[in-house]
Amino acid sequence: MSWPAASDLLVPLAPWFDRVRRDLPWRAADLDAPHPDPYAVLVSELMLQQTQVATVVPYFNRWMERFPTAHALAEAEEDTVHKAWEGLGYYRRARFLKAAAGSIAAEGWPTDLEGLAGLPGLGPYTAAAVGSIAFQWPTPALDGNAFRVLARLLLLEGEPKDRATELRAWLSPALAAFGPSRLTQALMELGATACLPAPACARCPLSLSCGARLAGRTAEIPPVAKRAKPKASTLWLLALEAQGRFLLQAPAAKGLLAGLWRWPTVEAAEAPPGPPAPGSSPVLAWPGWTQVYTHRREAVTPLRLRLERPFPAAEGLHWVPESDLPALPLGKRDQRLRSLLDTAGETPLETPTLESLLSPFRAPL
Ligand code: SF4
Repeated sequence: MSWPAASDLLVPLAPWFDRVRRDLPWRAADLDAPHPDPYAVLVSELMLQQTQVATVVPYFNRWMERFPTAHALAEAEEDTVHKAWEGLGYYRRARFLKAAAGSIAAEGWPTDLEGLAGLPGLGPYTAAAVGSIAFQWPTPALDGNAFRVLARLLLLEGEPKDRATELRAWLSPALAAFGPSRLTQALMELGATACLPAPACARCPLSLSCGARLAGRTAEIPPVAKRAKPKASTLWLLALEAQGRFLLQAPAAKGLLAGLWRWPTVEAAEAPPGPPAPGSSPVLAWPGWTQVYTHRREAVTPLRLRLERPFPAAEGLHWVPESDLPALPLGKRDQRLRSLLDTAGETPLETPTLESLLSPFRAPL
């Protein structure tokens, strides 16, 4: 590679960061020493995966009050941990964080990058970020923001992630020269505040040496990956109520929604249209909404059904007392139905027959 040395090219970055850096609760005041609380760095890095800083700050503050150390988190109940994560999304991160805390509480902190990368939930980026920010190891942390900055700065053609090994080797001496914690956070800050997909080059400390800016090619570097169209589905989300209890699906042990309680759902196409069964409780509907996930788009209609008595529930489903609902960890979609329970505004729904809605949730005879 014939790139200028990183320790020359990035000279303006460290003083710029010292001047503009945001005061975030997980940031140490002294960027030249190891972080006084590596656990705080670990928590912040896991929370910041896929989530904006502004969203993370209040969660981080509450989390650190509730689970101030790796030991406290390791000993906490699963439900309490998921409840504290509720609303932050990508719930696997909460499980990984608890598992990583368990390992740290039992065996202490790993002493090298390989050991950090072996903790649950820490891929190469998060391990390198924790290594440099918490421990001052010269381990370059390249996330999407850092790749974008470096691709533009070095005028890289093609996908910069394909050159991760070269870029890490190039960046490493600069981390040692300017301080691993400072430079890692400076790159992140630049990617988050100036070198955005539509870059604000006028406020960038690297603008005089940026290859893409000088070539007038910031719009095309790096190339934007085409996203697959999200899969669309139509769901009924059911609040089935009987004698002060609601039917809920208990948390799965694995998968994207592990640790979360869920309302029963029916794919709308599965329930044939028809009037409510004679003599049955009416089915009521609240106004629906569209729930958007990375790979999925759900048109959700929340329904309320009041039954005279509970029926024996299928495996994994439980009749939960209404008074227990506020303490259950739920995903975003299911929280929304929980908050609707206290509101009026349901109207009778004429489409699903009651039995077609309930049959998937009954225990087999
Ligand atoms: S000059 Fe513009 S494109 Fe180049 S690194 Fe700075 S913000 Fe990004």
